[in-house]
Amino acid sequence: MTSKFTPRTRWIIINRDSDANGTPICQWCGGAVRIDWGEYSIQHRRARGMGGSRLKDTGQPQNGVLVHGSATTGCHSEIERNPTKAAERGFRVAQYKNPAAIPIVTWDGRQLTLTVGGEAIPAERRDG
Ligand SMILES: [Zn+2]
Repeated sequence: MTSKFTPRTRWIIINRDSDANGTPICQWCGGAVRIDWGEYSIQHRRARGMGGSRLKDTGQPQNGVLVHGSATTGCHSEIERNPTKAAERGFRVAQYKNPAAIPIVTWDGRQLTLTVGGEAIPAERRDG
């Protein structure tokens, strides 16, 4: 199985999505995330289902974002319930698309490209 995030990949994503003080930050709302309470999830941008689990990059850092809650609670739930908004912000990626090629838009409007190496780098500005 390559579709699940391994403990190492989860660690990479949580570190990438933490602020300069090392506080994990929900990439959807910008709030601090209590990792120790388990009230968070690493959301798959491109879903694991519908063939996604066969794609190698499904379990790689560029396909995951740290968010509050679970599929049925908190920000993760809001993402699941608002597919259009989620797609606009890059938190939902179509099955045939490459998550590394689609930036996420963070809570404060920054466009970040998530790389296979676990970095978040400013995306090229797309006007219009
Ligand atoms: Zn949140």
